[in-house]
Amino acid sequence: MKNQKGPKRSLIFYYLLSLVILVALNFILFPALSQDEIENTDYNTFLKYLEDDKIEKVEVKNDEIAFQTKDEKVFVTGAMPDQDLTNRLREQNVVFERVKPKEFSPLVQFFLSWIFPMLMFILIGQLVARFLMRKMGGGKNAMSFGQSDAKVYVSAESGKSFDDVAGQDEAKEALSEIVDFLHNPEKYSEIGAIMPTGALLVGPPGTGKTLLAQAVAGEADVPFFSISGSEFVEMFVGRGAARVRDLFKQANEKAPCIVFIDEIDTIGKKRGGNVGGNDEREQTLNQLLTEMDGFDGSMGVVVLAATNRPDSLDEALLRPGRFDRRIPVELPDLKGREDILKVHTKGVNMDEDIDYNLIARATAGTSGADLANIINEGALRAVKEGRTSVTQSDLEESVEVVIAGYQRKNSVISDKEKRIIAYHEIGHALVAAEQRDSAPVHKITIIPRTSGALGYTMQIAEDEKVLMTKEEAFNKIATYTGGRVAEELIFNTKTSGASNDIEEATKLAKAMITRFGMSDEFGMVALETVTNQYLGGDSSLACSPETSTKIDTEVQSIIRSAHEKATEIITNNIDKLHELSQFLLEEETITGEQFMEILKSEDEKEEEIDSEK
Ligand code: ADP
Ligand code: MG
Ligand code: ZN
Repeated sequence: MKNQKGPKRSLIFYYLLSLVILVALNFILFPALSQDEIENTDYNTFLKYLEDDKIEKVEVKNDEIAFQTKDEKVFVTGAMPDQDLTNRLREQNVVFERVKPKEFSPLVQFFLSWIFPMLMFILIGQLVARFLMRKMGGGKNAMSFGQSDAKVYVSAESGKSFDDVAGQDEAKEALSEIVDFLHNPEKYSEIGAIMPTGALLVGPPGTGKTLLAQAVAGEADVPFFSISGSEFVEMFVGRGAARVRDLFKQANEKAPCIVFIDEIDTIGKKRGGNVGGNDEREQTLNQLLTEMDGFDGSMGVVVLAATNRPDSLDEALLRPGRFDRRIPVELPDLKGREDILKVHTKGVNMDEDIDYNLIARATAGTSGADLANIINEGALRAVKEGRTSVTQSDLEESVEVVIAGYQRKNSVISDKEKRIIAYHEIGHALVAAEQRDSAPVHKITIIPRTSGALGYTMQIAEDEKVLMTKEEAFNKIATYTGGRVAEELIFNTKTSGASNDIEEATKLAKAMITRFGMSDEFGMVALETVTNQYLGGDSSLACSPETSTKIDTEVQSIIRSAHEKATEIITNNIDKLHELSQFLLEEETITGEQFMEILKSEDEKEEEIDSEK
């Protein structure tokens, strides 16, 4: 309420003020300006002027005589019954004419009576609007009618360079070509090469697209205009297209330069044929297309854009001459993750002997933003524990924080449930360890996490795999079922704790059939299309309902046989299951080495028994 009152009251205040000013102008200033030339005087003075032959014009009215002297002064005086006056005036060659005070030129008059008040109104209106906008918190965006809010970045401002971006070597290479072109356009025009006008950075969130663009700004040493797609579509309807126009006008003036449009999908979505679609957005997009066509390659304006939804972009944006160059910015690989971790340790006090490779192996599938977060979480943990440097265990803990959330130290779980959880986790670990083509167990814990995980088994592969074989996929599903199998064998029950395992197993089994072509029944037929691959990857079945039914049957059969395999493995190792679970219950967390030790010692015992026989 309070917020509204302010602007309203001041609006009234300003209207009153402008009214007062207008009234003052009309009643005081204008009359004063136009009348200060007329002076009242007495009849004697008039006669004196007449005698001295100083009068130029005269106008005799009933009760008043107005006259103008030769030096352009205008007087009025009362009329006297003076018969002779007319003759005397004629003798002196005075002109009989209307005597008016000296007039302003029509132009000045027009200005004073029309233009000036209008200007006043506009000025006051602007003042009021500006005042209101600030009050409403609309900020400067709302006020800059017709002006784009593209921020001009210069190298000093972004402060980033390619050194700050780890991994992403291909992207950096493609971008440094653009930087080089902006530094030295002649080199390219001599040969006759035309640089692309636009490049599109495409990849999942947090992989460093915005960072790369900032690094380009830092490296390029040319003006850098940056604007986010969502800023185009704003408060004022119909502003989007004008904004694009202004942005490119500014850019053309400053060429060579870079224009960066972040999150371009907000304006660059496919234009649909649907009636009454988002006109605003389509106009903005059309304007963008037009502007990009307006460039010629030699001018030196390069448009960069970033998106994580390339499939939703309008085709017209992607054709040659616009964003024809596509720069993938994918999730980092093992080496990339290690490098990113190291880049972010700059300025952080780290222990000497940290195994970044291990952390990188443990974080498959995470983005650069996650990794930056891991280092920071580690540093926070070190501070919390009163240490002056970050240790390996800090980092390992923060990996778990990023993957599974914080530890829920004070959640109360009954002993019976704890036992079930421990057996469940060891079930997973056992199945994983007893299968070939399965990543080694790194850690097992039954400390609950804020993500809702009650415990988990962490596997870290020796090195990164880019392929998954059918056997590996199947083994993975078997490992997922291991937890439930342990519940069934030991407690003769099923718990809800397996819900996440079930979800993952189903997803993988389905993908094996519909996307990886790993089923004998369907072979190499794509039964599913993936949209939005960078944002979770929604998939939709692209097959007949009959096929869909068959897929379901097949998924069930894969999971069933994986479950059977897991049951077999655990039944064969039931003693180890008991021993390991007992150990886990006592320790709450056990490492891969402890796990393997117990597992092996069992093996050895068995072997001893075998050899004794
Ligand atoms: P995007 O725009 O792709 O969603 P950002 O560029 O905003 O991601 O990245 C977010 C943060 O993640 C960056 O500020 C940086 O700290 C970190 N980051 C991401 N990728 C990298 C990388 N390749 N090298 C170094 N840091 C990275
Ligand atoms: Mg971004
Ligand atoms: Zn589980």
